Amino acid sequence: MTIRVYTEDNLTPETWIQDAACAQIGGDAWFPEPKDEATANHAKRICKTACPVREQCLEYALRTRQRDGVWGGYTAKSLQAIRRRSAA
Ligand code: SF4
Repeated sequence: MTIRVYTEDNLTPETWIQDAACAQIGGDAWFPEPKDEATANHAKRICKTACPVREQCLEYALRTRQRDGVWGGYTAKSLQAIRRRSAA
């Protein structure tokens, strides 16, 4: 199993990742190719329906300004838009 989430210094795993649905399932769905909406939607659906740590994941992605992948049921691009709106 690959643990993909780390703190800003990229050395220490966040503790909530142990319960993450993506960590249990594995695979590359959470980092789809840029125009692969079907895979991104599949990942987002799992985030929103099967992950007990979605809130922590979303907070982490916003805090660490993730630029790629799917986090907490949103693409990183969507999260960037959320950050821009909340900063305005
Ligand atoms: S919300 Fe999605 S990306 Fe975040 S930990 Fe859960 S399954 Fe993984």
